[in-house]
Amino acid sequence: MKTALDFYARGKQKEANADEYDRSRYYSRDRFICPECGEAVHLTGSRYSNHFAHFKKSEVSAECDRRVDGSPTDSVYERIGLPIYMRKNSSGDFYLYMGFKALPPILMEKAIQESISVKIDGKNTYRINNERFSCAGTALIPLDYVPLSGHKYHLCYEPINKAYALSQHWSDYADGFSYEGAIFTVSEQGGKKIRHGDSITTEEPYYWVRRQNQLPSFIPGIEMKKCGRLILKDTTLNVFCGTFSSDISDAEFNYLTSYLRTNLKIHLLEKQPEFVPIWPPVVKTEDGYIINSKEQSVYGYVVSGNDNPRIYVYQGIRKIPDELKSVNHLTCVKVWDQEALVNIDRKYVSNGTLLLKRPRVIITNDAEIYELIDDEYISLPKDNFIENVTKYCLKLGIRQILSWFEKVVK
Ligand SMILES: [Zn+2]
Repeated sequence: MKTALDFYARGKQKEANADEYDRSRYYSRDRFICPECGEAVHLTGSRYSNHFAHFKKSEVSAECDRRVDGSPTDSVYERIGLPIYMRKNSSGDFYLYMGFKALPPILMEKAIQESISVKIDGKNTYRINNERFSCAGTALIPLDYVPLSGHKYHLCYEPINKAYALSQHWSDYADGFSYEGAIFTVSEQGGKKIRHGDSITTEEPYYWVRRQNQLPSFIPGIEMKKCGRLILKDTTLNVFCGTFSSDISDAEFNYLTSYLRTNLKIHLLEKQPEFVPIWPPVVKTEDGYIINSKEQSVYGYVVSGNDNPRIYVYQGIRKIPDELKSVNHLTCVKVWDQEALVNIDRKYVSNGTLLLKRPRVIITNDAEIYELIDDEYISLPKDNFIENVTKYCLKLGIRQILSWFEKVVK
């Protein structure tokens, strides 16, 4: 394969092309990682060109080569799979769900007409309709089990010959749990599972859901405590909450990242790549950012540990992303379709930023305001909103920011 992930410095990651590297140099064994399976790959090649290869050739690695370099035949959603969510009830227990994102109304109508249904792991079947699924937001279908360690949830659509469009919007699988469990984001309602191959960051709260009663005590930098349980049909799992500390030595950080990569298939970074919308006002939801349907462009800030962040934008279910440029970490994303997905630094990750067009009037009080200071953005508190806006405008000058944007657009 031509592409791998390069972990070139502590807590940093970028997509790398093999030709950018010198084969006569030494690279440590866990420097390059296959973006598909998360295993280490090494730099090799012929006299004329370089490529990356898995350490041992297997069926899996042949499949990785095809997927990493081959022309994408699936939409980004089909490829990353359906998201898994946790929800907390009033007594503090967690429950598990699979998330089905909003369908375009035309597709929903067609699915109802053709009586399409989705079946999860050959067990439960759900008819596609407006009661269970939605054209406005993510619909959650409860799950009362996790597949055997390392296995995925599998979905099929019936009748099969009518299901193509649906599987492009959803997928035919969802990531399962590893033997060591799964990591979830922390939100007001619960959290969203970090998909295998995605990244997390230090000093950010996460849930760690495990069968085991305890966290591994021999791994440095895990600052978590038990905070509840996830209720399944035949068993309950332990839910821990806390952070991964960045206040550890380089050797400890190495140990922690390699543990997380090997056991949970997750990459620990010191800065989570992210697109943060600045203008126009948006509403942040767990699904993504809602923007008014009339808007064509969203200006925003690109957070990345890399000096030259890569910006990939998927319009609707288009398979090939547009690649954007940024100026001073600012960029302008066009939203042509009902939605656009913005992935920073990696083409296929599930924690990108989804921009959703909705016929909703958005007033500025709903928006978060960020203050940009050099490379850092700081979220301003929502109370004293007017005062903060004034302070923000005085400090940077809205005009100045808008003219900055014009530069980016052209
Ligand atoms: Zn691989």
